[in-house]
Amino acid sequence: MAAEQTREQAIRIGISMCLLGEKVRFDAGHKKDRYLTDILGKYFEWVPFCPEVEAGMGVPREPVRLTGTVGSPRMVGVKSGEEWTERMEATSQRLVRQLVPMKLRGVILKSDSPSCGMERVKVYGSAGMPSKNGRGLFAEALMRAFPLVPVEEEGRLNDAGIRESFIERVFSYDRLRMLLDGRWSAGLLVGFHTAHKYLMLSHSPAHYTRLGRLVADAKKIPVAELREIYAMVFMDGLAVRATVKKHVNVLQHIVGFLRGKIGDEEKRELLGVIEDYRREIVPLVVPVTLIRHCVMRYNVEYILGQVYLSPHPKELMLRNHV
Ligand code: SF4
Repeated sequence: MAAEQTREQAIRIGISMCLLGEKVRFDAGHKKDRYLTDILGKYFEWVPFCPEVEAGMGVPREPVRLTGTVGSPRMVGVKSGEEWTERMEATSQRLVRQLVPMKLRGVILKSDSPSCGMERVKVYGSAGMPSKNGRGLFAEALMRAFPLVPVEEEGRLNDAGIRESFIERVFSYDRLRMLLDGRWSAGLLVGFHTAHKYLMLSHSPAHYTRLGRLVADAKKIPVAELREIYAMVFMDGLAVRATVKKHVNVLQHIVGFLRGKIGDEEKRELLGVIEDYRREIVPLVVPVTLIRHCVMRYNVEYILGQVYLSPHPKELMLRNHV
């Protein structure tokens, strides 16, 4: 269940093409993001798209913007006022259909774009300052079509917490899809649910309880419905922000499984490191590494199977900054 397990193919991530350095922007420039190309690119296979090029706007082109209302924005040329709304909506639908067989496990979008922006995109009303509550037309179509797929913007990924959460959800969604798309059995669901217990508790104990009820009632719910609801609650739960307090609870719980195996001094050391993490003197990777070491040494099987100890490749060092 851990992130290092072998896979037949790379995890595919949809991405706004300009973030990879392709010169597809309105000014024939790009917005290459080196963290994406040089670091994440080692772990993911990119599936690039540029909705504006696909819509036939050309490169270079007149920039477009959103106008009207946030709920029903129009896309128009900034100077000419040329209408692009219908063409962009049709292009978005076509691109979304093309992305279905790609089995995306996540999407990274270019911020602020009237096509790709996920949130806070400017929408110009009839007068005054633009509202900053819009979403790009393509991003809207994409997020509607793939409601479970984790989506983020490149700018937000500079935040260590958001970055860790996004990558964790990408790998979790991949494991979820393997469960849902593989041979289904109630036993496999129980195994999946058990393995994700502490990961889910670090985000949302309420979601973990709800998922537990679904698993307990598995035989009473039609399989298709069970799969759909479980997947939705699982991804919703992981989208809840993990906090230091919730991590501390999880870590203390796990230390409880070492009772009778470790001596007083070792226990004091573990609890001391958890306390250092609670006081934000050390990052999360420190207590998790120490605990994983103990769990392996004393072969605590139940905890060894917990995704929480290794939710993504350690080389990404995501927990070194949270
Ligand atoms: S933000 Fe989207 S539409 Fe704009 S250049 Fe990048 S990929 Fe193309």
